[in-house]
Amino acid sequence: MKTVSLVQCESYEQELLQEKLIQTLVNIGFDLSSLKDARVLVKPNLLTGVPREKAVVTDREFFRAVVKIIAENGGHPVLVESPAAMPLQRVLKKTGYDEIIAENNIDVADLTETMVIHNDEGVRFKRFEVATAASGADIVFNLPKFKTHGITYITGAVKNLFGLIPGLSKAQWHMRAKNKDEFSTFMLDYYGAVIGDLTKGKEVITLMDAVIAMEGKGPRTSGKPRHVGAVLGGRDAVAVDYIATTLAGLDVSQAFTVTRAGERGLGAARMDEIEMKGDPLSAFTIRNFIPVKKSGSDIPLGNFLKNLIVEKPVPSKVRCTLCYQCMEICPAGAITKAKVPGKGSVPVYDYQKCIRCYCCMEICPEAAIGLKRGKLQWLLDLLG
Ligand code: SF4
Ligand code: SF4
Repeated sequence: MKTVSLVQCESYEQELLQEKLIQTLVNIGFDLSSLKDARVLVKPNLLTGVPREKAVVTDREFFRAVVKIIAENGGHPVLVESPAAMPLQRVLKKTGYDEIIAENNIDVADLTETMVIHNDEGVRFKRFEVATAASGADIVFNLPKFKTHGITYITGAVKNLFGLIPGLSKAQWHMRAKNKDEFSTFMLDYYGAVIGDLTKGKEVITLMDAVIAMEGKGPRTSGKPRHVGAVLGGRDAVAVDYIATTLAGLDVSQAFTVTRAGERGLGAARMDEIEMKGDPLSAFTIRNFIPVKKSGSDIPLGNFLKNLIVEKPVPSKVRCTLCYQCMEICPAGAITKAKVPGKGSVPVYDYQKCIRCYCCMEICPEAAIGLKRGKLQWLLDLLG
């Protein structure tokens, strides 16, 4: 049996959060005295630099409460994160993390050095390059934000560890694993390497921010913040994701990073394998949590069909400043410079090459890239 703690937490008020987080740690049997003199890696979700109101990143007050608990118990928190493309320092500034880091004298891990980790049991992928800093900790605190996700249906504890892979390499993985099926296989091969190699023998504790979650078109700014009022925790990231998905009333069978993890023995993905501590699921009334819409990107497709039934990223002439960060990140080489440089021009997208990873949307500093629906996408809507 794997233990998952679920506790109600209505807001990001600091005192309340610290109380709920300590309650969570006690519920899962974590010994706070083990933090003394420990180097504690803290991995929030800092997907990109947007204000906290958008609910894209782990809330900065959640992070503040966790690092305070670590420091007050004699530990040394070290932030580790590699945003998809925007430089980490810029993300820290835009999300307000920079103030907390300065006020609490928190180390930020150097992500320039990388190492290779292995998963010999990987179904398709067996070697992964991660930031070396991720290996040098006594304890890891994984702090995901619970959100819907256009490729993997949900993003939570398992997917948050993707951020240990250096920024630009993440986009390359989207190229190698192009749809939901392949990307979920990759994520679980990678997760197997994280728990079986990178963090083997270490405490890896998930503390999930589901106070304000994200519903709809997650995981970026097209998704909508949704009050759930919960903090979840556990040692088994799969089990935490299972409970979070169930709590939101989402269809767990669509979350392959949960169901297939269970089938592979990487974690608990059934209620009868999980011992719940804290508040029962019935204490929450989460109605009509909006799932991410079924997308053609779930299906392996030829280019012709893909362009008809999958949303395509389209830059806005009004907002685009021609910085070309989208072009740099695009793993498919699908973006080239505007034909006419200057205001009102946008980069040129080749939708035959585009694999719909949406890394360009993640990196765009102007939020200038929107989604245009495929001409036959209404068909998928009809099919539910
Ligand atoms: S154009 Fe955007 S969505 Fe398409 S492959 Fe490139 S980065 Fe990914
Ligand atoms: S779409 Fe965004 S990232 Fe791409 S060039 Fe324009 S402003 Fe830069």
